[in-house]
Amino acid sequence: MHEASLAGGVLRLVEDAALRERFTRLLALRLEAGQLAGVDVRALRFALEALAPGTLLDGAHIEIEEPAGQAWCLTCSQTVALAQRGDACPACGGFQLHPTGGAELRVLDMQVADD
Ligand SMILES: [Zn+2]
Repeated sequence: MHEASLAGGVLRLVEDAALRERFTRLLALRLEAGQLAGVDVRALRFALEALAPGTLLDGAHIEIEEPAGQAWCLTCSQTVALAQRGDACPACGGFQLHPTGGAELRVLDMQVADD
């Protein structure tokens, strides 16, 4: 499952940060999964919860934001809203769109404790 490997990636990222920044407890984790990122947020949350016991994710409050997609339309030379990949430009109906926002999964911030 796609989301399970994404959750594994998020955990690795948190563990790397813990080593680097020497924290031992994660209080809260804020992720961004853009609407164009192709991530099923419910499945991702489930995968993170399944992965959590015994890891730094255990007991952490996990928040997942889902920013709307944005794309640059080559035809109208402007940024337009894009609900999903493959949709037409809402302004001109064209398909010359390059996603510019809401297209990735990333960690926004972490709240940590070092006790
Ligand atoms: Zn357009």
